[in-house]
Amino acid sequence: MVVSIDDIEHVTVIGAGQMGRGIGAVAALAGYEVVINDIDEEQLEEAREEIEWSYNKSIENDAATEREVDAAIERLSFETDLETAVADADVVTEAAVERQSIKEDIFRDLDAAAPEGAILTTNTSGLNITQLAEVTDRPEQVLGTHWFNPPMLMDLVEVIMTEHTPDAVVETAETLVEDVGKTPIRCRKDVPSFIVNRLMRPYGEEPAWMVYRGEYTFREIDSAMKYGEGFPMGPFELADYTGAIQLRVEGAEDHLEDDRPLAYDTDVCPLLYQLYEKNRYGQKTDAGYYDYSDRDEPDIPVDAGQGFDPLLVWAPIVNEAAKMVQHDVATVEDIDTGAKLGGNWPKGPFEKADEVGADAILSRLTEVAGRHEETNKIAETLPCSLLVEKATRGETFY
Ligand code: NAD
Repeated sequence: MVVSIDDIEHVTVIGAGQMGRGIGAVAALAGYEVVINDIDEEQLEEAREEIEWSYNKSIENDAATEREVDAAIERLSFETDLETAVADADVVTEAAVERQSIKEDIFRDLDAAAPEGAILTTNTSGLNITQLAEVTDRPEQVLGTHWFNPPMLMDLVEVIMTEHTPDAVVETAETLVEDVGKTPIRCRKDVPSFIVNRLMRPYGEEPAWMVYRGEYTFREIDSAMKYGEGFPMGPFELADYTGAIQLRVEGAEDHLEDDRPLAYDTDVCPLLYQLYEKNRYGQKTDAGYYDYSDRDEPDIPVDAGQGFDPLLVWAPIVNEAAKMVQHDVATVEDIDTGAKLGGNWPKGPFEKADEVGADAILSRLTEVAGRHEETNKIAETLPCSLLVEKATRGETFY
């Protein structure tokens, strides 16, 4: 019997890195018995120290009492042996490194060692969850729970189904997410990047093409999106912060063998290769789009974006969002919730589309697609039929 929410007491987290330690800390504070597992003993020790540090921050910020924190620390244990770590688990959350082959090995081991009814989830940022499910003898009990960094502070968790996931299992996972104090959104299909990172992609990519073609400068676009539209960071500032230049260039081939619905098949903007070749990966190499050698923050003039129309960035995002609704990946409400809670965006793509009208989005999107000329990026920016329908009928998404 697959566990139901009332049976869940023991949660095991695999991987004690940035994410695993945060997920473990949240679950223990919410009352679950938590084991954190890692192959590296030092990581476990660091995790223990960082969790105690973050719990103390919660006390300082009145987010938890000393008593709650003491009880949570009692409920936490750290274990290098996987079999011991999952022996009593009702739910296992895997947050080890982002490599498909490593995760598949872990899921084989989890399937062999975890109790029969246990639900196995992965925190992958976009790898193939269906394949992880299929290396086990319990594919209907494997799904994605994608947390945001840092888990103690970020409210959102995407719950990702595969074609094997029954409603009862996804509902149990969502209830668990709510029970630890987070907001779940449902990704009904195992698509690359899931919901929020699918929206993030055009936010980073389309502006890079505009700069590459010499239409705008990255300061103009960052200024317009940050100071004009209220995004927490402009697309280039964000790329420097997350290391997206390196991730995108080194991951360029990954999608070639991806046969999931809505798999990507598009060119990487040559501007990213140019920066990559100069070792300009972003903040971690002291230079990306911006130079950080003598400053921590990028220099973005507040009024530099006045000549840039932010709908040129919003339009491909709305199109991507509409594609997800059209393909039954997620609802309008969940996509907007994801953008706001996962990306800290000022509004969701559908809220923006309804504010300016689907016809305005469509006309900007046609302009964006038209500028791509020969690259296969055109395909990604072609308007989906749901957007065309809304624009033609003058309808809103809500
Ligand atoms: P990390 O590199 O900080 O930590 C990974 C940990 O996994 C390390 O401690 C490593 O020792 C451990 N590990 C490796 N192989 C293992 C094994 N076989 N068994 C047990 N532990 C093992 O990585 P992270 O940033 O915490 O990311 C973990 C996962 O979460 C990845 O899949 C990542 O894509 C995803 N994720 C990361 C973020 C983020 O912002 N960092 C956000 C959402 C999702």
